[in-house]
Amino acid sequence: MRKLPRVLVVEDEPSIAELIAVNLRHNGFAPTIVFDGAAAQREVDAVLPDVILLDWMLPGESGAVLARQWRKSERTKTVPILMLTARSDESDKVQGLDAGADDYITKPFSTQELLARIRAVLRRRAPEIVNDSVQVGDLTLDAATYRVSFRGRELKVGPTEFKLLHYLMKHAERVHSRGTLLDKVWGDHVFIEERTVDVHVKRLRESLGEASTMVETVRGAGYRLTALNSPARTAQGSTLSAT
Ligand code: CA
Repeated sequence: MRKLPRVLVVEDEPSIAELIAVNLRHNGFAPTIVFDGAAAQREVDAVLPDVILLDWMLPGESGAVLARQWRKSERTKTVPILMLTARSDESDKVQGLDAGADDYITKPFSTQELLARIRAVLRRRAPEIVNDSVQVGDLTLDAATYRVSFRGRELKVGPTEFKLLHYLMKHAERVHSRGTLLDKVWGDHVFIEERTVDVHVKRLRESLGEASTMVETVRGAGYRLTALNSPARTAQGSTLSAT
């Protein structure tokens, strides 16, 4: 039930792209292949990837130009970029990193090395994808076992609400717009209406029961999960004796 990390592979050599995609699929990633910058931009506009593998030498705009554009854009600036290139020149490496790539890998590379580098950039940039358990106040979510509990009592949460809660808990105490949530939880802010978020937040609150107040609506801004609104613990029978 865990969300597979989405990897956008921008590589104009079909045999290399296909080889990378096959290996990614076998290792728990969801790859999408595009062959040039224009297609890559369309894909990024439609579905925000969790990581981008970007070839340096592409028809049209080079990988370095694309990386620089994505780093400047509000929507894509935190998406990890791993640059692929046939050139091992030190100055190219510097240029790639200057353009905003998180890491750099020289062809030919081993599949194991590529996977290790992808996992490393995800750990640095998007720990919620590789990190399994999170706690906010008395609310605990374990992605590996797919469990949510509040004060040790297990709660039943549907798949979409689970993903939504996972994201909100990983980024607790911050306000997230509906557009951001669509991007981060649904991976799509173009074809899904923002109202969808409200529907799932409502369902999530129903699932959370007494912890539902932890999911706050911030008028005109979006939603926030906060430990501050965690319901108070009821006193355990010791208060009455004083009166
Ligand atoms: Ca190429």
